[in-house]
Amino acid sequence: MSEAYDVIVIGAGPAGYPAAIRAGQNKLKVACVDEWKNFDGTYAFGGTCLNAGCIPSKALLESSELWQRAKHEFSAHGIAIGDLTLDLPVMQKRRASIVKTMTNGITALFKANGVVGIQGHGRLLPGNRVLVTGADGAEKTLQAVHVVLASGSTPVRLKTVPHDGHYIVDSWNALEFTEVPARLGVIGAGVIGLELGSVWRRLGSEVTVLEAMEQFLPIVDAAIAKEAQRHFNKQGLDIKLGAKVSAATVAGNAVDVRYSDAQGEHTLQVDKLVVAVGRRPFTEGLLADGTGVRLDERGFIEVDEHCRTGVPNVWAVGDVVRGPMLAHKGKEEGVMVADLIAGHFAEVNYRVIPSVIYTAPEIAWVGQTEQQVKAGGRAYKVGTFPFAASGRARAMEAAQGFAKIISATDDDEVLGVHVIGPMAGELIGEAVLAMEYSASTEDIQRTIHAHPTLSEALHEAALAADKRAIDGINR
Ligand code: FAD
Ligand code: NAD
Repeated sequence: MSEAYDVIVIGAGPAGYPAAIRAGQNKLKVACVDEWKNFDGTYAFGGTCLNAGCIPSKALLESSELWQRAKHEFSAHGIAIGDLTLDLPVMQKRRASIVKTMTNGITALFKANGVVGIQGHGRLLPGNRVLVTGADGAEKTLQAVHVVLASGSTPVRLKTVPHDGHYIVDSWNALEFTEVPARLGVIGAGVIGLELGSVWRRLGSEVTVLEAMEQFLPIVDAAIAKEAQRHFNKQGLDIKLGAKVSAATVAGNAVDVRYSDAQGEHTLQVDKLVVAVGRRPFTEGLLADGTGVRLDERGFIEVDEHCRTGVPNVWAVGDVVRGPMLAHKGKEEGVMVADLIAGHFAEVNYRVIPSVIYTAPEIAWVGQTEQQVKAGGRAYKVGTFPFAASGRARAMEAAQGFAKIISATDDDEVLGVHVIGPMAGELIGEAVLAMEYSASTEDIQRTIHAHPTLSEALHEAALAADKRAIDGINR
């Protein structure tokens, strides 16, 4: 007889593991199957985010930022530290140990919430059964009332740029470099390209980023993108827009990259080449014939707004379904599904999902850009406040960038909030909460913000939307 569960989750990334935990909290009998293996061959829960994405990248962004500040900013504080030395093995050991602590944490959370964690491959069979193949190749079939598919995503590869994991690499390899490459090429000036480009630039690489689009960061509000580009150029990230890569070949210990742009054909020689041109949904080996689960033309599992696949009691969440490929979006979907299965009310507010790019300065936003509001035709007002006028940002030696709020003229609704500056990713939380609770711009204006904090920039931007800023000049 097969083992039976109320819920089986396939995938223990930030979409799958919260689904399993919430199902456990809802007193459902739940198992979570995951096949992630690290480079050393060990299994680990946590998916891309914990093992090869959000967490290791932020560990290195933090370390490299400290290195950068020690080198270039401490002197402004009157702190002289003489010659600095970079110990990359220690930096990488710290990164690996943070990852291990976090992934082990999931095992502990599973235990605490009654989730049976299974390491191995899961395949959905017709009739809501899951075939699990364990590390030793042994197979067993589990029966479920509900199955949640949370198999995540994988990097897009370019045919003309053959991945070899050493010279031509993806973001995961680029997080585990054991030496600082003297010359680093990055294809794609998206979130990964900018974050990883920043890490290695700060640690000393000469970084060239080749971006196919003519426009820099088109997903971001145009004023923010312009400010960001100015800072990245100043930091020495050589971002080439409109660059179409035609080939990359490994020659000796280097990679020759051929690309063309408006100026003509070029060859770039680098020591490592990171391909960061987006991610695609991962469903290889996930669905047996006859399950009825449908994929769209881009390979995403088709779901409705409640993450139902259309097959009774089969759900899908996270990067493998439509919407932004963000850990927190997947988490909310996972929790929603586990609550719906238990018969509770649950939904995800897809209009209020924050985004953060963890560069320096950081970039964060929620809601619509000014360009989107304009295209929608609704009358709007804009308030901005520069961190140059923030006492706290000055004290931090981080008085770069600005906060921007876009609000409807008719009813004062907050339509979008955009921040480029210190701790932007933390600051955006206030804007997310305000929009989630349908706060008006006046509500933010009337909310007391502690002084001196960075959050005053959002307060002043809200005041500036009505030309009532106190610490900035109203234009
Ligand atoms: P995944 O995290 O990909 O997890 C899916 C899991 O399912 C994996 O463990 C996989 O092995 C397993 N699996 C797949 N198929 C099967 C199967 N058949 N059987 C068993 N197991 C299976 N997002 C943010 O919000 N913030 C960030 O700062 C951020 N930084 C990132 C940095 C990098 C370098 C990268 C690459 C991504 C980053 N992301 C970030 C994106 C984030 O990692 C993803 O949005 C998130 O991991 C998606 O979660 P998921 O659970 O849907 O999928
Ligand atoms: P992305 O979509 O952010 O950026 C890819 C970039 O590559 C785009 O600018 C695109 O125009 C460019 N591009 C595509 N094909 C190209 C080509 N052939 N030549 C040159 N440029 C090309 O994707 P990403 O940076 O790979 O990140 C993947 C996903 O991971 C994103 O969806 C993102 O949401 C997620 N992620 C999030 C964070 C975060 O939240 N801070 C960090 C990293 C990754």
